[in-house]
Parts: sequence; structure tokens; C-alpha cells
Amino acid sequence: MLSNSLVDLDRRHLVHPVSSYRGHEARGVRVLRSAHGARVVDAEGRELIDGFAGLWCVNAGYGQDSIVEAATEQLRKLPYATGYFDLGSEPAIRLAAELAERAPGDLNRVYFTLGGSDAVDSTIRFVRYYWHAKGAPERDQFISVAQGYHGSTAGGAGLTALPAFHEGFGLPYDWQHKISSHDLYRNPNAHDPEAVIAASVEELEAKIAGIGAERVAAFYVEPIQGSGGVLVPPAGWIKAMRDVCTKHGVLFVADEVITGFGRTGPLFACDDEGIVPDMMTVAKGLTSGYAPMGAVFLSDGVYDVIADGAGPKAVGHGFTYSAHPVSAAVGREVLALYEGGLLDNGRAMGARLQAGLKDLADHPLVGDVRGRGMLAALELVTDKAAKTPLPAEVQPATRLFDRAWEAGLVLRAFPTGVFGYAPPLCSTADDIDGIVERTRTVLDLTLEDPEIR
Ligand code: PMP
Repeated sequence: MLSNSLVDLDRRHLVHPVSSYRGHEARGVRVLRSAHGARVVDAEGRELIDGFAGLWCVNAGYGQDSIVEAATEQLRKLPYATGYFDLGSEPAIRLAAELAERAPGDLNRVYFTLGGSDAVDSTIRFVRYYWHAKGAPERDQFISVAQGYHGSTAGGAGLTALPAFHEGFGLPYDWQHKISSHDLYRNPNAHDPEAVIAASVEELEAKIAGIGAERVAAFYVEPIQGSGGVLVPPAGWIKAMRDVCTKHGVLFVADEVITGFGRTGPLFACDDEGIVPDMMTVAKGLTSGYAPMGAVFLSDGVYDVIADGAGPKAVGHGFTYSAHPVSAAVGREVLALYEGGLLDNGRAMGARLQAGLKDLADHPLVGDVRGRGMLAALELVTDKAAKTPLPAEVQPATRLFDRAWEAGLVLRAFPTGVFGYAPPLCSTADDIDGIVERTRTVLDLTLEDPEIR
């Protein structure tokens, strides 16, 4: 009864992110009531394994009392402090210092945002300001990677390269350019990683030359492309892209909103390849979803150019909720949990997840199994040899998500027929084995679906 009235209220009033509004109204909302560890409980009291950590964000898992206590204490002590007027709060200052100490290379300056999209948008503003301060305002062209995702603000959605974020929004802007994704499953050179890297280097070089190197401001990349379907580049790809940018003086921005905070093993995925970007964005695992927060890391060099360029003038960029003390207190406790054992557990469970999913590779519907650590995907196809995607007209995203839900599993089902996995780092062996077993059930049921085969 309660849930029915919620469904009705939701249908009439709550606009949902990235959804077909009419489709959602017809289907109705599924209300989540509570959660613990890697499990969520729906309004009917049914427990499901959350194989996607909410939206790849609850890295610490649900029901961590110490995070609740840190937030509660901060709410009582000081629920808000602005960073304007030279003011600040202890948790924000300490979190910035703790993050700087752990971030790659000289990424020592931290600007806090509310999430990933405004972190990306902040980098666009910082990049532009940097080049003005350097006396090169004509460097105003941005390059990103096809199938990439960089958030949902106007600027970031233009760097994003997924059709739904552009169509009907007048995006991308004419200063936003793309190169192809490495997409190893559908790349004709996939058997030869060196050839994939060489082709991407050539394409980025050609793109920069085509625009004019003196006009290119920055290049954006996810260490692993998340929303494009968990696309893992070959080892050395990111480094090669970084080298091209260094050669042409183009700023290199790593978007670690998904990959940050233990998702791939280390605290930051840039550490997987020993890369030091000029700017880096994070969010999600920063607070594990217990409070909204993102951040931009700026290298010392970038920060100094901006600071010296502005001199006594204010750099006109800021949000009311930048460096929010409650989010910062949560972030500090989450970081302590990661280092107190969650990163280690995530690495062990990540290996178990990758091995378990590899065991599904011979299922007739599985074309590709890929991932790193606690980030993984299965790509479903109807013909393995031809790599034929599931028919788009059956709307695989909704159908497969529903089937997984019935099987007691929350995963991401991408419109292209890809399953995405990002379980909490606190997952147990039972949770991981359950994710794999329930995925097998979903695959078997899908194999019997006459509209898909
Ligand atoms: N960048 C990347 C790589 C992301 O995956 C996301 C979110 N999925 C964002 C930016 C945007 O973050 P948010 O949804 O917190 O605004």
C-alpha cells in the first residue's frame, strides 16, 4: 500500500536521471528501503546483491557505522562552512592534505565539488583560465575519446561521447573534438595491442595537427571507459596518449570519477600505469555515496600559473557547497576504511570476480569478458563469430536489468547489451559468487528468450 502510493507520487513528481520519462512512468519506480554490506533490500523486503555499488559509488559498502558517526559528529559540530572570505573547516583542509599526499606525482592542490559532473566542468574552466594566464587564450579546443563519459553538465556532456547526451541538446560544442576509442573487443587490431596503441597515437597526432597544436587546450581520458561499457585500454595506451600531449604542450586530464578509490586495485588507476596527469577528477568513491562530493586535483605547475595569472584578483569559480564539511568528514573516514583493509579486500574480491566472470566466457551469449579489479563487464552477442549485438528494438537495457532484478541481482545493463559490474569493495566471497551465479541464471533465461535469439 505504502509502496503503491510511493510509486504513484514518484510517477507524478520525481524526474529521474538518464531515463525515458514516459517509459519510467509506465514501468513505475522500484523503491529501495535499506541496505547493508553489498546487499540492498527493496520495499517488499526482498534482498538483492548490489553488483553495481549503487552507481559505481558505494565502494565502502552500505551500513558502515563509522562513516555514519563521522557525519553525525560533523553535523552536530559544524554542518556548514563556506570557503569564501578566506574561511574553511578542519575536515575539508585535512581531507585535501590527505588526498594530496596520496595522489599521483605533484597533484597537490584540491578543489572540492559536489560530484563528478561539476568536477569535470570545473576542469574546463581551469583549463581555459590556465591558457589565458599563460598568454595563449587561443588554446581553446578540447579533445576527448569516443564512448567516453565526462558527466552531464553542458560542458562535460559535450566531452562525453554517448549519443543520448548530445541528441536534442545541441551538443557537442564546436570546440569539442573526439578520437576513436581503443574498444579492444570491436577494434580490428585487437589481437595486436601495440597496433591499437600506434593507431590511437596516430589519430591523436592527426587530430591535434588538424586543429593546429597551438589551438589545443586539453585532452580528456578515463583510465578505463566506464559508461561506454567498461572498455579497458591495452597496457601502455594511456602512457602513449600522455606522451603525445606532453609533446604538444596539451594539458592531460584524467577522469577518475569511476576508477578512483580502489575500483581497479590501487587508490587511483593512474597508478596502474605510473601516469601523472595535469589535472584529475574524482567523485563517487571519494565519499562512497554517503554524502555528495567530488574533487579536481591540480598539479603544482597548473595551480601556480592560475594563481600567478590572477594575482590579487579573485579566480571567479566557486560553489556554495565546495568543500562541504560533512562530506569532507565522510571522505576522511571512507579513506581510513579503504586503507584499513577495504583496498586489500577489494583486490582479493576483484580477482575472484574477474575469474568468476571469465568462467562465463563459453556461454553462447557471451562475446567478451573484460575488466580490472572490482570493475568488469560482459558483452552479450547473438552470434559470437560475427559479434552481433543484441537487437536494439527489444531494449536490452530494460529487459536484462529486469531479469537480473528477478534473479536477485542489481547490475548495470547498458543499451548495447553489456552488463556492467562494480561491487562494493567490502563484498564477501559469497557476494561475488552470488553475482556470478545469478548472472549465469540471467544468461540462461535470456538464451530462451525468442525475441533475443
Ligand atoms: N566522469 C565519469 C568518468 C563518470 O563516470 C561520471 C559519472 N558516472 C561523471 C564524470 C559524472 O559524475 P556525477 O554523476 O557524480 O556528476
